[in-house]
Amino acid sequence: MPVHIPRNPPLPDTFHARARGELRALAFQPIQRNRGINYPCTESELRDATTPSHQPRSTVSAHQASQEVLAYNALGRNLSRREYNAICRLEDVVLGVFANRINWTPDLIIKAFCDIDVVFFLGRLRGHVYVQWRSASSFPPPSRHRLYYGRTDYLGGGKAVIRLNADGIFASTRLSTFKEMWRTMLHEMCHAYEFTQVASQNFESNRHGRHFGTKILAVHERARREIHVGAIHRGEGYNDYSYPSTRTR
Ligand SMILES: [Zn+2]
Repeated sequence: MPVHIPRNPPLPDTFHARARGELRALAFQPIQRNRGINYPCTESELRDATTPSHQPRSTVSAHQASQEVLAYNALGRNLSRREYNAICRLEDVVLGVFANRINWTPDLIIKAFCDIDVVFFLGRLRGHVYVQWRSASSFPPPSRHRLYYGRTDYLGGGKAVIRLNADGIFASTRLSTFKEMWRTMLHEMCHAYEFTQVASQNFESNRHGRHFGTKILAVHERARREIHVGAIHRGEGYNDYSYPSTRTR
């Protein structure tokens, strides 16, 4: 049972992305294994990441769901071979982009969806959640305080769709578009975990409440360490249930 030892990312972070307009246009291309980025995923992984399915599920409380994600993302845990291989693929592509060895395209985040699921969300989103790139017209209009980079819509019956805002992410001047894409996906997958694992009448009333905080803080810590991207902007605050003595005061 291996433990993943993260490599050191190249510093400083000097990678050059394609032009933002080109990335936006590529986001709306059909996603196929043999075009766009060459990320190792199977046909069935790609199908499950992009289309709804009818798998059954069982439910737990919102508290238990957040504790599951917290425990699963404990640093230094022994990994299954499947999870270890998935984390190595994710780390490889992130470091490849950082080092300018890989010219990435937006289909990456969808091709990597099943690996992200296996590494951070117990592999429980696959078959219940699918992902789409959308234009800004699919999101509430931006305001001075809020710009939607992504949203996760509940479809009923434990199913959800994650929509990523290509106009928001690829127009962003904050951070890099690459890191912004990962951050948005990890954030939305934390919402999706509740939608798939918790009965709808038991959803946390505050979408960004303490159960959400527990999940995203655990995912953020581990993602930063293991695959060198985060789930939270600097200065973005969440409370959580897990470390009440240090983080909720
Ligand atoms: Zn959110």
